[in-house]
Amino acid sequence: MSGNSIERVRVAVLPGDGIGREITESALRVMKEVAGEERIEFIEGRIGGSAYDHTGDPLPSETIELCKRSNAVLLGAVGGDRWDHLPGDRRPETGLLRLRKELGVFSNLRPAVIYSELREASPLKPHIIGEKLDIMIVRELTGGIYFGEKGRNGDTAYDKMSYTRYEVERIAKIAFEQAMNRGKKLTSVDKANVLQSSKLWRETVEDVARSYPEVEVIHLYVDNAAMQMVTNPSQFDVIVTSNMFGDIISDIASVVTGSIGMLPSASMGDGVSLYEPIHGSAPDIAGTNTANPMATIISGAMMMETSLDMAEEAHRIYRAIECVLKAGYRTSDISGSDFTLGTIEITDKIIQYL
Ligand code: NAD
Repeated sequence: MSGNSIERVRVAVLPGDGIGREITESALRVMKEVAGEERIEFIEGRIGGSAYDHTGDPLPSETIELCKRSNAVLLGAVGGDRWDHLPGDRRPETGLLRLRKELGVFSNLRPAVIYSELREASPLKPHIIGEKLDIMIVRELTGGIYFGEKGRNGDTAYDKMSYTRYEVERIAKIAFEQAMNRGKKLTSVDKANVLQSSKLWRETVEDVARSYPEVEVIHLYVDNAAMQMVTNPSQFDVIVTSNMFGDIISDIASVVTGSIGMLPSASMGDGVSLYEPIHGSAPDIAGTNTANPMATIISGAMMMETSLDMAEEAHRIYRAIECVLKAGYRTSDISGSDFTLGTIEITDKIIQYL
């Protein structure tokens, strides 16, 4: 994008259920403000329980088509008690898993950052957090034990964990690229002392490392990594790991940072990328104007930076959020100050500080 020519990009917006509509609305307001009304075309689609209510399918084919012909997808969250009685294939969460599969997004990037203003919200003691905590977790998303052959025979059950060299190579490359743009330190997490799939994982990461001589590579067993995450988290820069280990490690990291309402994520493959907050649909607070929209706003900023060629605009959003926190404004999940604001009002403040 250069000169005066304005190239319009298309973003599919899937609010989903619960607080999904409130938080995606906030993200759209901020993105429109920073990019101008003309540069991004936002088109809404249905997913999750609300899609099931309208069409009988948690992921209607129109939604898949919309996502595939967009430059990126912004998702709120799906799920809620109302749909818990439904059979597996109609459940809201199935819609999201199917969407990830349809888009072929094999890598999940979850930055875990502690904002200095929110240090008191972390369950860790300040001296353990250290000066700064800024970790990028790169989790493999479409392979490993969650997708392996599984079965049950009476009192015996099994889940097969397998990885191919190709699957490990492509996720490792993404992690090394991240490390090159950050602190040039990569921790690969596996269980190579007991698992064959982890031995292949470690071997392959070592092979890919030869193309990135500037990056320092450390291998940790997953049990040690979980312990280090709560005893010395600031040692980490980029972490790369398999589907199940990444699921667990990234949840630990999210708790360490204080609030689930602050953490964004990006899921990428060879085509359209999917951006969403890491939290769920929070049915307990839906419709009360108390949800923290920042995880979704930051997900939108990650999208602008990574998929829409709007890095400068994204950085304005990151800075505005820091300013709002510095000024003491909070939503109730991270509150501890006198300036507790609702979803709409904290969005107004972010826009004001852009
Ligand atoms: P949740 O993340 O929705 O909520 C957990 C707790 O965190 C709740 O107390 C909630 O009020 C709070 N919370 C979450 N996001 C918040 C925000 N932005 N601001 C303030 N507080 C926030 O997890 P849950 O309660 O286990 O699940 C609720 C529903 O969400 C379930 O149906 C679950 O299946 C679904 N879910 C969806 C996703 C997704 O769409 N990616 C992820 C996890 C859970």
